Amino acid sequence: MNQSQELVVTTSPDELRMAVRQARSEGQRIGCVPTMGALHEGHISLIRQAVDTCDFVVVWIFVNPTQFGEGEDLQTYPRPIEEDLKKCGAAGVRMVFMPPPEVIYPDGYSTWVEVAGLSEILEGASRPGHFRGVATIVLKLLNLIQPDVAFFGAKDYQQQTLIRRMVRDLNLPVEIAICPTVREEDGLAMSSRNAYLNPAERAAAIRLFEALQLADSRFREGAEDVAAVQEEMLGHLRGSDLIEPDYAVIADPDSLEQLTSPQPRMVALIAARVGSTRLIDNQLIELSPR
Ligand code: AMP
Repeated sequence: MNQSQELVVTTSPDELRMAVRQARSEGQRIGCVPTMGALHEGHISLIRQAVDTCDFVVVWIFVNPTQFGEGEDLQTYPRPIEEDLKKCGAAGVRMVFMPPPEVIYPDGYSTWVEVAGLSEILEGASRPGHFRGVATIVLKLLNLIQPDVAFFGAKDYQQQTLIRRMVRDLNLPVEIAICPTVREEDGLAMSSRNAYLNPAERAAAIRLFEALQLADSRFREGAEDVAAVQEEMLGHLRGSDLIEPDYAVIADPDSLEQLTSPQPRMVALIAARVGSTRLIDNQLIELSPR
């Protein structure tokens, strides 16, 4: 596709809009990949899919302050911008948009998007206001870029569920593409926050993936007691002194309501603190009829 041209980096919404308008007038398909930067192979897989299926790809790099709670890592979140730009250039991205916070949230900013229900459970219960910040920034970026397709990772399961719900509820004219979770060799889901882990924590963090696999195997073996499987997941996480589980649940993959009995499609969702780093992971469990 048309990806041989140079990468343009901008902080200006006007420059962004003009470039997108120009590309669209040439009949190009516009793709966008929203990120907070510190790009790893998980982000790059989204970017690759965007570059493979679109003509003009915009990567959005913005550490969105409104999705961080008090005492969270907004100030310390990694920002290796030079490396990020190199990776985008090498991947065939056409534009990186890195707006300053005051451009996105000018003085007196007062408009928010709430996706009721999905925002308050699981991650939302542990991180009040987080999904209001996520829904608001994603709607703003969809308005600014107006892409044909926006790419998100399955890694953030509740986030992608909430975004798909918002797009449906607000009739947004955009396709949402969900890309599979990219993992380290031992199974740990890639995350910018993995950089915070010391070697002992990094070794312990594999338990999140193992607990998800445990749930998957139990249901494949015919487990009927969802609560017992959840307890087993929690037990596996607690097997390391370095891990403090937040939740380990089996839920409906669309509503995210917790299940009391197994069904053909389920999602296992985990959040846990490993040392002082909060990590999340998930796995879809799809049982074939027996
Ligand atoms: P973030 O920069 O953490 O906000 O993530 C930006 C996008 O990359 C989100 O859609 C994430 O779901 C996605 N993402 C993050 N980590 C992974 C991963 N390990 N595999 C696939 N997608 C990911």
